[in-house]
Amino acid sequence: MKKIVSMSLLATLCAATSLPALAAGEKIGLLMSDLRLERWQKDRDIFTSAAEAMGAKVYTQSANGDVTTQISQIENMISRGVDVLVIVPENGEVLGNVLAEAKAEGIKVLAYDRLIKFADIDLYVSFDNIRVGEMQAEALLKRKPTGNYFLMGGSPTDNNAKMFRQGQMNVIQPAIDAKQIQIVGDQWAMGWSAEAALNIMENGLTANANKIDAVVASNDSTAGGAIQALAAQGLSGKVVISGQDADLAAMRRIVAGTQTMTVYKPISKLATASAEMAVKLARGEKIQVTGHVNNGKKDVDALLLTPIAVTKDNLDSTVIADGYHTRNAVYNP
Ligand code: BGC
Repeated sequence: MKKIVSMSLLATLCAATSLPALAAGEKIGLLMSDLRLERWQKDRDIFTSAAEAMGAKVYTQSANGDVTTQISQIENMISRGVDVLVIVPENGEVLGNVLAEAKAEGIKVLAYDRLIKFADIDLYVSFDNIRVGEMQAEALLKRKPTGNYFLMGGSPTDNNAKMFRQGQMNVIQPAIDAKQIQIVGDQWAMGWSAEAALNIMENGLTANANKIDAVVASNDSTAGGAIQALAAQGLSGKVVISGQDADLAAMRRIVAGTQTMTVYKPISKLATASAEMAVKLARGEKIQVTGHVNNGKKDVDALLLTPIAVTKDNLDSTVIADGYHTRNAVYNP
């Protein structure tokens, strides 16, 4: 008959024989908001292999853009008894209650890439998202210092979307004040969806009789939708447009000249640092942070990494040199 030794019995045996107790392996619940976007699949893969290399076990779930689904997935992870929750929030403002349950169970919480507001969380790991927005606007203003600008924001429930906008306005506002540029549209694409951006751009073009010179798009999926609408009017390549994420499709558009820039955020750094921090939180070890961010409830320990602006001129020395995409995939689709 197979002998089953319980963990507590094992610990007692180890203590009695003065052997170190066997580590059970930290359990990490990784809650993604939406795995349908290319970048998040990379985040998941790199995070999982880094955490598992440190001896942890990662359980992943994706909410497919639905906040109710995400809340029940978090509840499910709590009842599974994970040690740490690593969350990319679909809606960063509604997780306070469910995370209070996690806290009551002694579970640590790491906000991954997007801040979780009004909640007792332990750590926020992301990029300097205001800088991302500044880079987007800087690249466009450099190419089109005058003219009609259209603002294509991201998902209104994502705190990052607001930070990108804040950064964009830091750069754009002086040009508006100096009457060099005008804002001719200001919209937000629900769920960061390319389809939503396509519709917004079609309406924006109609409302402005196609007189748009620049589109401040906050990421590559919304840029992709907007570029489709521009192309239908023969305007792609003429209107400058920003993006973010260095998605393969966006890199190809940059090479083709239909997208002006993207912002590359080295996902491997974010995912690896987060995996290491999550394991340390689970082990109750001290973590090194770069600062603090107030989330409306407390000053949260934060680690913020540096984004990189990418155009045709430096894509080889950044995205490709980093191995994020191969040269062949970008240049020879
Ligand atoms: C991320 C972006 C991403 C967007 C849509 C944001 O929170 O920072 O990298 O493009 O979500 O998924």
